[in-house]
Amino acid sequence: MKWAFVGASNIASEWMVGAVRAVGDEVVAVVSGSAERAQAFARQHGIAQALTDLGALAGLELDAVYVSSTNDQHEAAVLQAAALGCHVLCEKPLALDLAAARRMVEACRAAGVVMGTNHHLRHNSAHRQMREVLRQQGLGPLVSARVSHSVFLRAQLQGWRIDNPGAGGGVVLDIAVHNADSLAFLLGEYPVEVMAMTQQRGMSRGVEDDAMSLWQFASGLCAFTHQGYNTPHASNRLEILGQQASLEARNVLNQAPGGELVWRRADGDLSLRLDHDNLYVRGLRELHRAIAGQPNDLASGEDGLRSLAVALALLESARTGRRVPVSYA
Ligand code: NDP
Repeated sequence: MKWAFVGASNIASEWMVGAVRAVGDEVVAVVSGSAERAQAFARQHGIAQALTDLGALAGLELDAVYVSSTNDQHEAAVLQAAALGCHVLCEKPLALDLAAARRMVEACRAAGVVMGTNHHLRHNSAHRQMREVLRQQGLGPLVSARVSHSVFLRAQLQGWRIDNPGAGGGVVLDIAVHNADSLAFLLGEYPVEVMAMTQQRGMSRGVEDDAMSLWQFASGLCAFTHQGYNTPHASNRLEILGQQASLEARNVLNQAPGGELVWRRADGDLSLRLDHDNLYVRGLRELHRAIAGQPNDLASGEDGLRSLAVALALLESARTGRRVPVSYA
């Protein structure tokens, strides 16, 4: 497939150009708000076209568009891609509000193209193995889930994320959406109600850099999630706790593959072997399957809309101090 990249971003540079090439596709154009950044990105990655205008994508005979501009700019790029009949892989969070995310999903549906959300974590081996154990009822009736997902933002990423609410900054929109997708992938459900407290703890200005939250699911299960930007020495952890056993994944909530997974049971702890595939390459393979009409594990546009709905409810709860029902409408 021939791809255009909208956004001369870190994620595009560090992971997605390589991932697209690894599945046998090519990147033929990059679009940036700045001609210098577009040219520098194109030069660095050997991309033929450096553009500054979404309109210039017409006529390139593209098959797909990858969108990794700041969160406020995703919608315009996705609507343009759909108008050109291109499949779309859009970064998370899809947008800053649900109405925009809905317009994006609807535009792709109406155009008959596949829309994916780049929730890469569901493509790690730990997630897939945990889902398998859960499908086999390997924990007995479920009790709760815990997600510790506090990181330290590299200096390079300490830009719009920590001081620009208009661009979609803040740790809830950035990381809680991933936690919503991970739990939905594992449990097969999204929360119906959430509560959250947020704080600014030395990293951000004007947006939260740390958030604690409680989630209630329709099945009755409760989850706790912690997402943060300012903890340089924290490990991350994803646990599902059942009445008979539990699953604990450590250091799997990263961009790079790695970490470990333990199934704790009455007969002892069992370490499950993880494969270490590139998560973004796997995600693109799932996108290819979706385009071919095959069964797939792609996070769809709808999935991205739902993870955004959870994040928005968390922000509302933090603002109002109340429990907030999550609206997916
Ligand atoms: P960056 O900050 O690297 O890039 C975002 C935009 O900022 C770029 O598109 C670019 O705009 C602009 N920009 C980049 N460098 C500069 C600069 N030196 N001066 C001024 N503007 C600049 O963002 P990320 O790569 O961290 O994130 C991009 C998107 O990807 C977000 O939606 C984020 O949430 C998502 N993301 C997803 C991850 C995942 O694993 N799924 C991981 C990381 C991010 P322009 O295009 O106009 O040049």
